[in-house]
Amino acid sequence: MASAPGSSVRVRFCPSPTGNPHVGLVRTALFNWAFAKHHQGTLVFRIEDTDAARDSEESYNQLLDSLRWLGFDWDEGPEIGGPHAPYRQSQRMDLYKDVAERLLDAGHAYRCYCSQEELDTRRDAARAAGRPSGYDGHCRDLTEAQVAEYQAQGRTPIVRFRMPDETITFTDLVRGELTFTPENVPDFGLVRANGAPLYTLVNPVDDALMEITHVLRGEDLLSSTPRQIALYKALTELGIAQRTPHFGHLPYVMGEGNKKLSKRDPESSLNLYRERGFLPEGLLNYLSLLGWSLSADQDIFTMDEMVAAFDIADVNPNPARFDLKKCEAINADHIRLLDVKDFTERCAPWLKAPFAPWSPEGFDEAKWEAIAPHAQTRLKVLSEITDNVDFLFLPEPVFDEASWTKAMKEGSDALLTTAREKLESADWTSAESLKEAVLAAGEAHGLKLGKAQAPVRVAVTGRTVGLPLFESLEILGKEKTLTRIDAALAKLAA
Ligand code: GLU
Ligand code: ZN
Repeated sequence: MASAPGSSVRVRFCPSPTGNPHVGLVRTALFNWAFAKHHQGTLVFRIEDTDAARDSEESYNQLLDSLRWLGFDWDEGPEIGGPHAPYRQSQRMDLYKDVAERLLDAGHAYRCYCSQEELDTRRDAARAAGRPSGYDGHCRDLTEAQVAEYQAQGRTPIVRFRMPDETITFTDLVRGELTFTPENVPDFGLVRANGAPLYTLVNPVDDALMEITHVLRGEDLLSSTPRQIALYKALTELGIAQRTPHFGHLPYVMGEGNKKLSKRDPESSLNLYRERGFLPEGLLNYLSLLGWSLSADQDIFTMDEMVAAFDIADVNPNPARFDLKKCEAINADHIRLLDVKDFTERCAPWLKAPFAPWSPEGFDEAKWEAIAPHAQTRLKVLSEITDNVDFLFLPEPVFDEASWTKAMKEGSDALLTTAREKLESADWTSAESLKEAVLAAGEAHGLKLGKAQAPVRVAVTGRTVGLPLFESLEILGKEKTLTRIDAALAKLAA
C-alpha cells in the first residue's frame, strides 16, 4: 500500500484512456512512481478523459487493471479518492469552464473567430514567405464592431491563450536549461468552438489545482511546456495556481529500425507482455533501463532498489533503444530469483486451460513440483512452460516434424533399441543412472552422449531441445518412457 506522504513532492500520472496500455505509458508511470516513493511524496493518478470520441470505459478499466498487475499504488486517484477528487477529467468540466472564463475576463485569453480555411490559407502564405507558420494573432485585439460582424456571420469562436511576447527559459530536470522564443510558441487554443476544453487547458489547470510540484513525462510533450509555463503564470496571477512545477522530459523510446516506438507497434502493447508471461518486476526492471540505470555494472535490481536510488537528474536525455532480447534476458533473471514455490504459483495460469494443451485429468501436481525447479532456470517468459512440460501431461509427445527428422538418423533404431534395454535395467530413482544407461548405449554404437541422447529425447518429449533429459525421464517414469521408445521404434520401422 501507499506509504503516508512525508514530503511536499507531488507528482502525477495522467494517461488518456484510449486503446491498450503501452510500454511508453508504463515507463512514465514507473518514473513518476519511483520519484514519488524516493521522496516520500504523493503520486496522483488522474484520468485525462476529455476526448469523448477516443476515450473508452473499457480502456479505463484496462488501465487500472494493468497498473494493479504491475504493482503500482497511488496516493490519490481512482478507487482511492483524495482531497482533489474527482480524478477523472470528464467529471471536472465545470471547473475548466470557469477557469476559461476567468482567463478571458483577465485578458489572458481571447475569442478567436478564424475559420479553419482562413487559418490554413494564412499559414500557407506565411510558410511560402518564410515567416513562422503558427497562429498569427489575427483575433488578439478585435474591435467590438469586428466581433459583432463575426457573430452576425454565425461564427462560433474558440478560446485562445494570449502568449506573452517574451522568451521562456526553464531548467528541465533531465535536459538542463531550455529556451523557447515567442515566434516558436504562438497563441494556442484552450477551448473548442463547441465548448469542449482541450488538453492545453485541462492538463495544466489540474496540475495547478492538484498542487503538482514535478511534471515528469515523455519528450513528445516538451513542446507544450513553454505554453504551460505561460499559462501557469496567468493562473498564478488569478490565484488559481500556487507555483509553476518543475518539468522533466523522459527520453524517446526507439523501436525497430531506430524509429520511435509507437503505441501502435505490436511490441509496445503491455497485454502482449502479460500474455507471454513476463513478470511485472522483470518488465519494470527492463523499462527502468529506458533512460535510467542503477549502476554501470548492475542490470538486475528490485523496485525497492530502484526507489532507493532513483534520482531524476540521472536520467539520460538521449533516446533509449527498446530491445526485446534484453527485456527477455532480464525477465529470465527475475524468474530465477523467485523462490520455487512462488515460481510454481506464477506458472499456474499456463498449466490450465486455455493456455495448457493437456486435459485437466492429464495434469499431475507431483510431477509438476518435481520438474518445476528444472524449468525455472530455463524460462525467459512463463508462457514457455507449457512446451517445456507438455510431455509430462499429454498422453503422447507432440512430435515436431523438424525435430524428428533432425534426431532420427540412420542407425537411430539400433541406438534406441540398445538404450531401451539399458534403461530397462537402470535405477529409476536416479537420473545419474539413466544417464549412464544412455551413455552406455551410445558407446555401444560409437556415439558420444550428445548424439546418443537426441533420439531418446525426441522419442520421449517430441522435441530436440528441452529440460535436462535424465531428470525429465525420471519424473515421467519408467513405464511411460519405455512405451514411448517402443512407439518411436514402431514409427521408424513403418
Ligand atoms: N494525457 C496526456 C497523455 O496521455 C498526459 C500528458 C502529460 O503528462 O502532460 O499524453
Ligand atoms: Zn482568430
